[in-house]
Amino acid sequence: MRKGLVLLATLMLSLSCAAWGRFGHTTIAEIAERHLKPDVKERIMHYTKGQHLADFALFMDSVVNIPPYKQALKGWHATIVDVKCRCTKSIRESVRKSRDGVTAMEDFRKSLKNYKELDDSTVFLAIKCIVHIVADFHCPSHIRYEDKGNDGKEPIKYFKKKTTIHKVWDTALIQGEHKKWTYKMYADKLDTFSEKEIKRVTKGWAKEWFEDAARDFRPYLYRVEPSMTLGRENFVEWALPLAEKQIQKASYQLAYALNTIFAK
Ligand SMILES: [Zn+2]
Repeated sequence: MRKGLVLLATLMLSLSCAAWGRFGHTTIAEIAERHLKPDVKERIMHYTKGQHLADFALFMDSVVNIPPYKQALKGWHATIVDVKCRCTKSIRESVRKSRDGVTAMEDFRKSLKNYKELDDSTVFLAIKCIVHIVADFHCPSHIRYEDKGNDGKEPIKYFKKKTTIHKVWDTALIQGEHKKWTYKMYADKLDTFSEKEIKRVTKGWAKEWFEDAARDFRPYLYRVEPSMTLGRENFVEWALPLAEKQIQKASYQLAYALNTIFAK
């Protein structure tokens, strides 16, 4: 009983600071799954034992305080860029000791080259992490800028409710604007990129994708200041289209990552 309560508290704690929350993560996973090549999907489903990507899109948030994952996956929910939005190896090393999502994705690309030689549980764990990390790249509260020393945890008000800008980006914005929507409905709404657009946004790998997200968000970085009261006109009107574009990019990049790794 006690152990159960501790576990529940841990889960709630970790989910309260989860990029995109359940709604965003499951939406991204759902769109990505729709864009997997049929043979790739079949290979992936072997490891997931038929579970869909959305079923474990929150995995990394649910184990954030649970050993041995706590140490193994540490830092993978965020990455950093310099003032010119470059996610160089040196800034990742110096600021985050290479504990970041981009480095993790670069390592997965290498370690999964011979995925058929790895045991099934190792490959499944990698799939669960990839599904989460690519989504986190695009959540504004999880993009760290060298010149902005905080992660948005100062108090603000969002439609009269006391909260933080970090939590608003994570969940309140997209969920608040889509009450009673399922992630499949949201995926239907957002899965609109043409083949040409998909090709454009999937160029490169993790570093390029994260830098692109950082550049998209950069002009808005200082728009929200501590103690502000955010509402429709001064926030939702620009923030929602921005968030949705990031969700779209994350979805197609995630599909691309899995289509590449499990191509044969
Ligand atoms: Zn996360």
